[in-house]
Amino acid sequence: MRGYSTDSECIEYGGEVPVLDTAAFLASIQLGIVSSIYYTTSKVIEEVRDRESRSRLDLAISSGKIKVRDPGKTYIRKAVSFIERIDPRLINALSDADLSVIALSLELRDRGCEPVLFTDDMVIHRVCRDLGLRTVGVKRSRPSNIRRVRQSMFVCAVCGYRTYRRPKNDQCPVCGGRLKEEKQVI
Ligand SMILES: [Zn+2]
Repeated sequence: MRGYSTDSECIEYGGEVPVLDTAAFLASIQLGIVSSIYYTTSKVIEEVRDRESRSRLDLAISSGKIKVRDPGKTYIRKAVSFIERIDPRLINALSDADLSVIALSLELRDRGCEPVLFTDDMVIHRVCRDLGLRTVGVKRSRPSNIRRVRQSMFVCAVCGYRTYRRPKNDQCPVCGGRLKEEKQVI
């Protein structure tokens, strides 16, 4: 899947390349609006587990409407270091799939395309704003003020462990204690 045979792909579609994160991807296949060519990554595909979505997805891939492209490792590293410079806490608020679509957008931009990232994730909107990448909301329109975002943080009352990602069963992976959700502004 990796690599581009030519750079003509985005030029062929008018320079603009829609890139979809997992939520955008599920929404588009549920709504059946796979009308143009979409780009996404294998990490996003991996997150699609629902059987119906999966079969629609296979159909869209075989029809050539969804192109699965993985960003090069350099672009993953680039994305991580960019995001860490904005705010190191943001990294933990992003899944591997989130990171992969951001990195893919950076790579497409370097190749002369104009990536447009479809997402409803506030952290992705926020990060892309600072990276100069265009984002568009899917079910919710892109908020105008995304300078600061409210993000859930899960805190263990027993050992103080903190994470931005909701852990399994809301249980602390360190001590097994119960994690409490707190809203943070980042
Ligand atoms: Zn704990």
